[in-house]
Amino acid sequence: MSNVCRFEVERIPVTPFHQNCSLVWCPQTKHAFIVDPGGDVETIMERVEASDLTVDAILLTHGHLDHAGGAGQLRSALEARQGKGSVKLIGPSREDEFLLNSIETQAAHFGLNDLKNARPDEYTADGDTLTLLGRTYSVSHVPGHTPGHVVFFDRQDGVLFAGDTLFRGTVGRTDFPYGNGKQLIDSIVEKILPLGDDVVVLPGHGAPTTIGIERESNPFLR
Ligand SMILES: [Zn+2]
Repeated sequence: MSNVCRFEVERIPVTPFHQNCSLVWCPQTKHAFIVDPGGDVETIMERVEASDLTVDAILLTHGHLDHAGGAGQLRSALEARQGKGSVKLIGPSREDEFLLNSIETQAAHFGLNDLKNARPDEYTADGDTLTLLGRTYSVSHVPGHTPGHVVFFDRQDGVLFAGDTLFRGTVGRTDFPYGNGKQLIDSIVEKILPLGDDVVVLPGHGAPTTIGIERESNPFLR
């Protein structure tokens, strides 16, 4: 008999950029983690409280405001409920520190004064593994959209938290001063496609897809 449990993954669109924040939880233990809480912290908290979840960690794929701008406030709100020191904030690769430190400046350009700079407890690096909800997640560094972008892979359920790397039918934008289009495609080809065609890709924007679908039909991967 297997006691392996499939995690619930819910998409919560946040910020005016409709960024997909992911709430991942184990139905048995009610422990959870959250990927890319860019904002709308009250909405995320309502969802956490509705299922009476205990959130152990917040993960950030990269330093853009719509992915990381709610992280600090979310942690404060969770710790007010669960206890101080109960939520670990796990960042992308350290190359994105400059972006995490400039969220407030970026957000001001959009009139989004509720988004804040984020200060992770730890940064991640290529090849790291994270133990979350008793399960192992692997970290891959996939620069191009931002220099420090990482993706988190759950091999057991075959789910990839892809941030702004690979989308349904397209890829992340690279028209920033620090973006690099060739590097992004190389990252996807070398680090994401080999994970397997059946892997479900949960992108930062838009609908989920699979690696197989994108390998077949994504025009940017030809
Ligand atoms: Zn981004």
